[in-house]
Amino acid sequence: MTDSCIFCKIISTAASTGSAERLNTSISEEAKASIVYRDEQVTAFRDIHPVAPTHILIVPNKHIESVGTLEVEDEQLMGHLFTVARKLAEEDGISKGGYRLVTNTGPNGGQTLFHLHVHLIGGQRMRYPMG
Ligand code: 5GP
Ligand code: ZN
Repeated sequence: MTDSCIFCKIISTAASTGSAERLNTSISEEAKASIVYRDEQVTAFRDIHPVAPTHILIVPNKHIESVGTLEVEDEQLMGHLFTVARKLAEEDGISKGGYRLVTNTGPNGGQTLFHLHVHLIGGQRMRYPMG
């Protein structure tokens, strides 16, 4: 947990609102997030500025700045994060049509919030090419 990190605040608020694995609750004004999933390793919540009908951020509970600071010991965690993304896509009904998973890394990658996260974006046809 990093005091200045908004995602760490969202994670700790989600953890303190109950032990249920799935929460559908709005939390504090400061850490605005509608939590859709949490377990001991990851938390998922809806993006405050959605770019598509489904826009969920899946984040490790442990503060990792970006893919640029991942360690070998984080490999299981990152695999779990993608399995949760797959489950949430199914729950939001976007699996059949497909979806996009994005992890911006560093300033040139478009990262604005420096707590590693995967964007799960779907519910519409994605634009291409990226970049
Ligand atoms: P990045 O630009 O780092 O890839 O993604 C950061 C994302 O976090 C953006 O899509 C932005 O809309 C979202 N975001 C920023 N602050 C908050 C917040 O307080 N709550 C929620 N739910 N999303 C946020
Ligand atoms: Zn953090």
